[in-house]
Amino acid sequence: MLKFSRFRFLRHILIGLLSLACVVTFAACGANTTSTGSSAAGETLKVATEPAFPPFESQAASGGGLEGFDIDLMNAIGEAAGLTVEFESLPFDGIIPALQSGTVDAAISAMTITAERAEAVSFSRPYFKAGLAIAVKEGDSATTSLDSLKGKRIAVQIGTTGADEAKKVEGAKITTFDSAPLALQELANGNVDAVINDAPVTLYAVKSGNIPSVKVATDKLLTEEFYGIAMPKDSPTVEQVNAGLKTIIDNGKYAEIYKKWFDSEPPQLPETAL
Ligand code: GLN
Repeated sequence: MLKFSRFRFLRHILIGLLSLACVVTFAACGANTTSTGSSAAGETLKVATEPAFPPFESQAASGGGLEGFDIDLMNAIGEAAGLTVEFESLPFDGIIPALQSGTVDAAISAMTITAERAEAVSFSRPYFKAGLAIAVKEGDSATTSLDSLKGKRIAVQIGTTGADEAKKVEGAKITTFDSAPLALQELANGNVDAVINDAPVTLYAVKSGNIPSVKVATDKLLTEEFYGIAMPKDSPTVEQVNAGLKTIIDNGKYAEIYKKWFDSEPPQLPETAL
């Protein structure tokens, strides 16, 4: 009898310890679930970019990550919208196909909002005002307009609005490159007469001294273009990104990032570009 109750006593202790272990385990599981839950609220957004378009996006020289206006802007939008931004580098002409197949959730790559692209993807509200410029060799004073490039050799980046503009020039011999720096280098090497590219990028390349003896042909831009963040067609992310963008425009963060990269006050942006 005594033996039996001792056994019962031990059994009680054992059950007690087991239940305690269970409670601790469940509490730990519970805590885990909670933290997974809160990181699900801070959903990860896979964002494509072509990092060869400074000052908008490029690989940091120091072997660091990506840097540029678009990179800072996208991170600030993510922060404002409660989204964790993860960048993925892609060639520019691979970005829209990646959005269409859903391998990425968004793209920020100095991408001009055009009617044609807007059929394939959905854009955020405009986040930057840009336009195309003609780049020529420093000594060239004959190039004063798109018209003056008739029959000349023009280098462009594949799949860009600059490439579309070059197609309008009668008799021009167009060479396409995978990136804008390669097209500009071709001009610096004297192998083409002009490059048609986004003005802020060409001006930045000239100013930084990366592309020697090249200048922008005219002060007047060929086009007025607005950049947008592209997302899969009708993605619910559009609303989140627009809300984040509005927050940082209103609270001054946008202006701070703009000043960091362009050393001037940002212009007024329209609500839509098309
Ligand atoms: N803004 C131009 C376009 O959208 C060029 C963009 C780029 O090369 N990243 O076509």
